[in-house]
Amino acid sequence: MSFSNLQLAAPILKAVNLCGYTTPTPVQAQAIPQAIAGLDLIATAQTGTGKTAAFVLPALQRLSVPSTSTKRSKGPRVLVLTPTRELANQVTDAVRTYGKFMHIRSGAILGGMPYFEQQRLLSQPVDLIVATPGRLMDHMERGRIDFSRLEILILDEADRMLDMGFSDAVDTIAAATPASRQTLMFTATMDNTMAKLAQRLMKDPVRVEITGKKTTLEAIEQRLHAADDMQHKNRILNHLISDSGMTRAIIFSGTKKNADQL
Ligand code: AMP
Repeated sequence: MSFSNLQLAAPILKAVNLCGYTTPTPVQAQAIPQAIAGLDLIATAQTGTGKTAAFVLPALQRLSVPSTSTKRSKGPRVLVLTPTRELANQVTDAVRTYGKFMHIRSGAILGGMPYFEQQRLLSQPVDLIVATPGRLMDHMERGRIDFSRLEILILDEADRMLDMGFSDAVDTIAAATPASRQTLMFTATMDNTMAKLAQRLMKDPVRVEITGKKTTLEAIEQRLHAADDMQHKNRILNHLISDSGMTRAIIFSGTKKNADQL
């Protein structure tokens, strides 16, 4: 598959080509068509799989078509929530890179940063906002942001967002957006908490699962030895390395000192 099969608008394709990408990664190939079709989506994918473009490209695709909302609102059409400032900055950079040939207004609402620029960002019509939940709530409570024309809500690293205690904030933010919105959720792990979150926020989501690279080899047997203390551990180690079948070995150690002693 190539990017030209993904039904992306010409300015987006041009920017993707400029990045030197030739083929979509598996998460992109699976998620982008579903997201462009307007479906809610849960994608299980780790960092490094190309997950950012998997949601930024469909978001830009949506923005390439004028808003059909009749609401007189300056609020964003797309909102991306991320757990940390660093991740929000990466997403904002991706929006700038892939949206380079489009006329869109985007920006970040982040904790620990001055309010002034964020107020300026929100004082004029904005297409896409990337935000960390705490600071966004802050602006919402001050009545500075209006989500009445929001079309797509994206949760990036949703599992980490919940781990960091943003569950209530995410629910409050989602409740302030139109029920008709599309919701895309990206997470590294999928457990019961995530399933419940999806149930609260999404409508019949499609699942995209990208399994990480296998990190163990079939031919390697793994064993766990429980040791009571350091002496016991050394006795077990002595026993293992005096095995005549053991011809080559690597021992990993927690500290330099311990490695020297070994
Ligand atoms: P992410 O998983 O979103 O953090 O992306 C990991 C890296 O892969 C980023 O540096 C992207 O620029 C790069 N990338 C994303 N999509 C592609 C692609 N289709 N081909 C090559 N590199 C890509």
